[in-house]
Order: sequence, then C-alpha cells, then structure tokens
Amino acid sequence: MTVLDDLRPRLGRRLLTGPAELAVFGCDALTAFYERPAAVVLVESADEVVAVVRACHREGVPFVARGSGTSLSGGSLPIGGGVVIALNRLDRVLSVDPDARTAVVEPGVINLDVSRAALPHGLMYCPDPSSQSVCTIGGNLAFNSGGAHCLRHGMTANHVLGIRAVLPDGELVELGGDSVEPLGPDVAGMFCGSEGLFGIALEVTVRLVAVAEATHTALAVYDSLEQAGDAVARIVAAGLLPVAMEIMDALAIEAAEASVKPNYPKGAALLIVELEGERGVVDADAAALRELLRASGAGEVVATEDPDARALIWKGRKSAFSAVGWLAPDYIVQDGVVPRTRLGEALAEIGRMGAAAGIRVANVFHAGDGNLHPLILFDGREPGMLERAEALAGDILRLCIRLGGSITGEHGVGVEKREYLPLMFTPADLELMRRLRRAVDPAELANRGKMLAVA
Ligand SMILES: Cc1cc2nc3c(=O)[nH]c(=O)nc-3n(C[C@H](O)[C@H](O)[C@H](O)COP(=O)(O)OP(=O)(O)OC[C@H]3O[C@@H](n4cnc5c(N)ncnc54)[C@H](O)[C@@H]3O)c2cc1C
Repeated sequence: MTVLDDLRPRLGRRLLTGPAELAVFGCDALTAFYERPAAVVLVESADEVVAVVRACHREGVPFVARGSGTSLSGGSLPIGGGVVIALNRLDRVLSVDPDARTAVVEPGVINLDVSRAALPHGLMYCPDPSSQSVCTIGGNLAFNSGGAHCLRHGMTANHVLGIRAVLPDGELVELGGDSVEPLGPDVAGMFCGSEGLFGIALEVTVRLVAVAEATHTALAVYDSLEQAGDAVARIVAAGLLPVAMEIMDALAIEAAEASVKPNYPKGAALLIVELEGERGVVDADAAALRELLRASGAGEVVATEDPDARALIWKGRKSAFSAVGWLAPDYIVQDGVVPRTRLGEALAEIGRMGAAAGIRVANVFHAGDGNLHPLILFDGREPGMLERAEALAGDILRLCIRLGGSITGEHGVGVEKREYLPLMFTPADLELMRRLRRAVDPAELANRGKMLAVA
C-alpha cells in the first residue's frame, strides 16, 4: 500500500496487505457490518503507531485503532478501507504505584491483566466489562466502557487519570496526569469516550482501588422479569448501594446453563446483587438485603461469600452474550438505558415488541443503572431476518428515549447507532460535537465515519 511503503522495511511481515490476512479485520463483534481494510499494521511500539499515523496524515488516508475487536457497535470497523492499527502487542503494564494507587499501562493491555498486576498490592482496577478477559484498556477508554461493578465504582472515565496520545496529525500530547484533581479543562475526560475520533491513546494512567475486605453475593429468583426489575428500584429506594445489580431472564438463563453451566436455580428471572466493603457494613447490608428480596416477592434466594461459588454465579452472567449462540446463529445486542424506576415497564414493552415481531429477545443487563441489553436472536441465513432484527433494535432504542433514557449506556455509538443520535441531541448539540471533532481532526481521518457521519 503506497501510503505505508516507506515503513515497509521497518514493519516487515507486520504490515498485512494480503486478502486472507485482512479478512479477519473487516469486522468486530458486531458481525452484521463488514468492510475489508486496505492494510493492517501489527505495531510493536508507540513510535510505530506515531509513524503510521503521520504517514496516514501526510497522504490523507483514514486509520482505525483496534484493540481486541470486541466492540458491539462496529467501533473498529474500517469504513471505506484505510489502515487498521492493531495495538494488541502493546500489552505491557509499565508500572504499578501502590502508594499513589495508580498504574501506567500500554493501550493493548487486557483489562483483567491490570487487576492481576495490582493484586499483589491488595489493589484492583474497577471497570469490569463482561469481555474483560479479552478487551483492551485502549478500547475501554475509547468507549468509556462499563461493567457489572460500575454501578458503585463508576465507568472507565472515573478511573482514567492521564493519557499519552498521538493526535490525528501525528502530534504527541499528554492529557490529564496522575492526580485525581488535574488543572485546567478535563481534556482527558473529553478523550475518554470519544470512540477514537481524537487520535490514539499510547499510554494510560489508571486509578486502582483496594480489594474489599468482604464481598457478599445474593442470587434471587422471580416469577417475572417485571418483579425482578421492581426489586432493583426497591433496593435503591431503601438506601442500599450494592456494587452490582444484574438481571437475567429465562432465555438468558437457558443460554448460560447450556454454555457454562452455572447451575442457577430455576425461574423466570434472576437478580444478582453484590455487596462489598468493610465486614460490619456488609453484614448489616446483607441482612437488610435479605428482607428486601423477601418483600419484593423473590422465591429462592442463594447468598454466598465463597469465592468459587461467587465466581460461578458471575461466570454465568458474564458469559451470557456469547452463550446465546446456543439459542440462535445470530444476535444483535442493544445497549439502551431507561430510568431505573421504569425498568419493569420497559421490559414488559420489549417483551410485547419481540412477540409482535415474531423474534425472540433474551434480556441480561446492568439493572442497577437501567442499562438494558436486549439480545435480539435471529438466523441471518433467512432472507430479510437481519433487516427485521435491526428494525426491532431501532424500535427498542426509540422506546428507551421515550421513557426518558439513552440510546447507549456503554457500547458506544460506533457505526450502528449513528442514525439515532438526533433522537437524543439537538442539531446545535450535534454541530458542537462536529466542530470539536474537526478542530482536532479537520480531515476526519481518525476512525472516519464513526459516531458522526462524514460530512
Ligand atoms: C461478550 C461481550 C461482552 C461485553 N460486555 C461489555 C460490558 O459489560 N460493558 C461494556 O462496556 N462493553 C462490553 N462489551 C463491548 C466491548 O468489549 C467494549 O466496548 C470494549 O471496551 C472494547 O474493547 P476492545 O479492545 O475490543 O476494542 P475494539 O473493539 O478493538 O475497539 C473499540 C473502539 O476503541 C477504539 N480504540 C481501540 N484502541 C484505542 C486506542 N488505543 N486509542 C483510541 N481508540 C482506540 C477503536 O477504534 C474502536 O472505536 C462486550 C463485548 C462482548 C463481545
């Protein structure tokens, strides 16, 4: 590829241009969208990222950063070709400072590896997407990713202090720093969640927190999804602040059982609630939780502090997306949000919409913050099924907006939800976003076509 010809001697076999080599980089976890890149570079240093970005800028060629390609909104799709910069080999935890409770990591570090590096110091990295065993910190940063335990601890943006980045014109910048109270405007905050539109993160300084003294996990079974949703509102209204509250419906339970066999009790819906903190506080909260679950109509309640039993409960929940592969060849997962108080109503309406469309919808989601994940199951080999599934996904997003929520909680806009942005933002809001984008990247080379359509 001409744009990278100068770099070919340096990159050698790490510059991929053959059709077979490029094929796997043409999509991410949202497989409904596919575009083959013109080239892929398997970079091994920050200097190489900068060199590739500068070459692309010089020649006016679009480029896309790619971590592990687990985006569910087409974030790492190379729209219109261009160069994919694959960052997985930048996978070093550069330092852990137990006194400052920070770590400095390269962008290709796997999320879970940050906690693994911090654990010997009694520390951990909080944001825990269900994909945490494979997704990278660079991808988490770009999408401001969340996870089951972000209910109390906050999303990625709450845990990133500083970013060393290369801007789309090849300039190097340091955003934020290593303090929780940086001076000046929060430019690191602006970069976080920008879906790669402002350049590529080369180094990220993250906050670490102490591993809790006690962790208590309760699993409650309900006769209906609405009951489980209403229980979440009750728990919050009672003043408890669990670290996680997750719901799975009967289809999601069936998929998890077929796949990783967590041996969940039988029911129409499951609510997982996790408490953590100092021993005395967890004991008092666990007693209050028991009462609340009983009052909310829960059938069987399993409560445990045993690490292996807890791990099995979470394995079922965190494997649920991939597990639905046991139920249907294809799925689209939506990521809309509704106010917590309207969870029951939203779930009932999604059930009605799925039935009317003749499409099965499994639900597994971050109930504590109203972040729904309806999994729309279909067989893409059947003519017209993808379009019908996409239409249902769009209707669900409109429902979320109608109920006072959002089109995305954590999976980003990517290419998939671009057309829904005007449902949430005014033309003036969108114009401001575009002006910010253009101020940093006038030629719109970085992750072209994501979030905002190319003007
Ligand atoms: C089974 C499954 C479960 C999931 N569960 C969750 C969940 O619980 N919570 C959640 O939030 N998400 C979840 N996701 C979505 C996904 O894992 C996250 O969005 C994750 O952050 C993507 O990381 P990645 O390394 O795969 O990034 P990629 O998919 O490779 O890229 C994602 C975006 O980040 C950009 N990017 C990557 N690296 C950089 C960088 N260094 N600098 C700038 N931009 C960059 C890319 O250009 C792209 O726009 C799940 C996905 C799957 C498949």
